[in-house]
Amino acid sequence: MENKVFFTPGPSELYPTVPRHMASAMENKIGSISHRSQQFKDIYAHAVSGLRQLLQLPDNYEVLFLSSANEIWERSIQNTVEQESFHLVNGSFSDRFYEIAQELGRKASKYEVPFGEGFHLESIAIPASAELIALTHNETSSGVSMPVTDVHAVRARTTSDALIFVDAVSSMPIPDIDYSLIDSAFFSVQKCFGLPAGLGVWLVNDRCMAKAEALQANGFSVGSYHSLTSLLSKAKAHQTPETPNVLNIYLLGQVVEEMNKKGIGLIRQETETKASLIYDYLERSTNFDIAVQEPAHRSTTTIVANTILPTSEINKHLSPYDMAIGSGYGNRKENQVRIANFPAHSVAQVQALVYKLEELVG
Ligand SMILES: *Cc1c(COP(=O)(O)O)cnc(C)c1O
Repeated sequence: MENKVFFTPGPSELYPTVPRHMASAMENKIGSISHRSQQFKDIYAHAVSGLRQLLQLPDNYEVLFLSSANEIWERSIQNTVEQESFHLVNGSFSDRFYEIAQELGRKASKYEVPFGEGFHLESIAIPASAELIALTHNETSSGVSMPVTDVHAVRARTTSDALIFVDAVSSMPIPDIDYSLIDSAFFSVQKCFGLPAGLGVWLVNDRCMAKAEALQANGFSVGSYHSLTSLLSKAKAHQTPETPNVLNIYLLGQVVEEMNKKGIGLIRQETETKASLIYDYLERSTNFDIAVQEPAHRSTTTIVANTILPTSEINKHLSPYDMAIGSGYGNRKENQVRIANFPAHSVAQVQALVYKLEELVG
């Protein structure tokens, strides 16, 4: 049996109670029930109400289930952008959102800073013609996170009624977002929710809905089964247009219920504690060097460091101790490491990782 603890940035370590919930899902034959049954509607409603509580989501937001964050990028553009979107880009994920807008034939523009850097809002001019402003709260490729105060400050710097979209795929539910200052946020479950991949969660407010309806009324294509209007009409009946990932929606509801019992305050506090353990170690390490120079821009959930010893070698050393860390993104595979610090990772597991790394590579 494989006992490895995965500190990889997604897929990652599963939330500790997932095996138990998997067993109960099998006992209740969740894989066989109809997605139009009352049993499914209850599973759906349970996951949504749990998320509303965990995230303190205002009433003018809907919670929608899609297949992945990649899909949500595409649906966001299709449903809310007639002509133009604007993207803050500082790594591979934020750049991919920008590219998707282009691939869908929109006029996309970006404000880009070098890999490993964050943004200084005062130097960014947001085009007044942009209908959607894309922010990435946690750039998983580089380990740069946008301070939540900056996410909140974008609205005041926007002269138009553009919709503000926040990719919080690898940080949700850690940032304490004021949802009245944005219009949409999204995540996929294989990062901070500690679940198997295959489910994207899209939070959208009434302004996004109104935009999609207006585009559709003007004869504009907003997609088919996963248009916002189609998703919303089914969501009202606790259903999805297609046959969804019922098992994962069930597991999400269970994990979120446990997160609510633990309390989001404690989850956030532990995230800070574990991040400090990792960053303090990286700072004194002779092998590693913290990749993000500006402390205010360092992620607490995806911690990136330059490494002298290739990442694959480090993982060979860690393997007998049943631990694995993430490699660098793309061509940084061997000269950077990415260490996930998600709610599924306990303080004790992070302490054990830091202790072993210090012993093995200095
Ligand atoms: C992982 C990730 C995505 C893509 O998620 P998928 O579920 O694979 O589509 C998008 N944005 C960020 C910031 C991510 O970390």
